[in-house]
Amino acid sequence: MSKIKNLFFDLDNTILDFSYASHVAFKSLLNHFNRDAYDSYSVYNQGNSKVWKEFEENKITALELRSKRFDLYLDAMGWEGDGGEWNKVYLENVILNTKYVSGAELLIRDLSKDYNIHIVTNGLKEVQRPRLKAAQLEPFLSSITVSDEISAAKPQPRFFEVAMENAGISNRESVLMIGDSYGSDITGGHGYGLKTCWFNHDKIKEDRKIHDFEIHQISELAGILR
Ligand SMILES: [Mg+2]
Repeated sequence: MSKIKNLFFDLDNTILDFSYASHVAFKSLLNHFNRDAYDSYSVYNQGNSKVWKEFEENKITALELRSKRFDLYLDAMGWEGDGGEWNKVYLENVILNTKYVSGAELLIRDLSKDYNIHIVTNGLKEVQRPRLKAAQLEPFLSSITVSDEISAAKPQPRFFEVAMENAGISNRESVLMIGDSYGSDITGGHGYGLKTCWFNHDKIKEDRKIHDFEIHQISELAGILR
């Protein structure tokens, strides 16, 4: 792997534990609005996945995504409320619950001595930027690309084009894309001509075999790069 000089890391559930942050934030959100329905996370998540898919397919804007996911949730629960307002409280709590994926903090600190570390994330700028700050990640990063800021999202080639520009590099062979989502990180990276490493934390069975490497713990990446 001597050609690899640049590591493109997905952020959510690759470096930072988004599942944890989202679950805790959802509980705080319900407390904020005095609703007792903690088991309705899956209802929210269903709508959320749907609107993110629409966003990745360019069917809705990131602005619409923010409120629509909670409008869908409020509708499903039969509650009155303003999706935009719910989204705001939820995001504040996601930021407050920033936590690393096990092993990721040490890995980034170590790898940053030998590689340029880049964050390439599908997400909202008002939540991804403060989370990077809260995790004290920025000193180790060479570039940050947030889909919301560039009006393109993984797996679209345009996203990777801008990420390469942001990274200040043109040689695709110098890049390894690491992420947990087969649909956005692996398909997108591979489609753009990058080598990919799939962080399959849940040991999911996947029929598409387009990834170059597969790991089950993020710390295993060091062994692949050696
Ligand atoms: Mg991810």
